[in-house]
Amino acid sequence: MSEDFSDLKAIYFDLDDTLCGYWNAAKGGLKHTFSSVTLPDGVTPEGLMEAWVAEFRDFAEEIKRDHWYEIYLSQGGITRMELMRLALARLGIDDARLAFELGDVYGKERRSTLALFPSARELLNALRGQVTLGVITNGPADIQREELQDLGIEDCFDHVFIEGEMGEGKPAPRVMQRAVDAAGCEPNQIMMVGNSFKHDIVPAREAGWRTCWIRRDSDVPVTSRTGRVEELPDGAVAPDLTITHLDELYEILTSAGVIGTVPARKVN
Ligand SMILES: [Mg+2]
Repeated sequence: MSEDFSDLKAIYFDLDDTLCGYWNAAKGGLKHTFSSVTLPDGVTPEGLMEAWVAEFRDFAEEIKRDHWYEIYLSQGGITRMELMRLALARLGIDDARLAFELGDVYGKERRSTLALFPSARELLNALRGQVTLGVITNGPADIQREELQDLGIEDCFDHVFIEGEMGEGKPAPRVMQRAVDAAGCEPNQIMMVGNSFKHDIVPAREAGWRTCWIRRDSDVPVTSRTGRVEELPDGAVAPDLTITHLDELYEILTSAGVIGTVPARKVN
């Protein structure tokens, strides 16, 4: 390993699709929802999924721009229902009650199937007490808190930065600065571990951090147009590390002495 990571003092993780399989849970949740809720005549689960994906592409942009952002920051449920309403409307259906039911079933199903990736807990346990540990995650305040609690990892972190609680998210430079201030070390002693090149790797690199990009074959959003995992953009500088499994990071940090032989504090 050419890069030396022995001087790392802090590690910040992204949450969704870095530590837990958000898209796995979302895709399964949508499929379950559209096939288990009774749909109006002429509407098929496949047709509704297509409409949802099309609306998600537009709405994901809109959420960040107008009055929806304030709503989205505090709670995920309302924008989830609105997206169902828009998907139904795209198919000519005006039914607020059905939109509510679809959003509700989807939210519950996604929540109940969201799971940590293999080795995530072991890695966090091994790092706990060895370096400052944090999470920096985009998304609504209630949903992100719920995820950390449901996954049982909230107590693993010294610092938790949630877009919904900060009023802004990655890749804003101010978000990275907050994390630097909290860690109390030099930016180049911090590593960002994340699955999104744009939201995790680019802002961390620009802030002078070390970067670890996790690219799993399964990490394909339901809205993906290519159906493939994200590639390094043309002309972009490669991250310090590119991995496909958290085990690789565990090994690298063990070789670097960041994960030591002194038993770390256990988190169940
Ligand atoms: Mg992510």
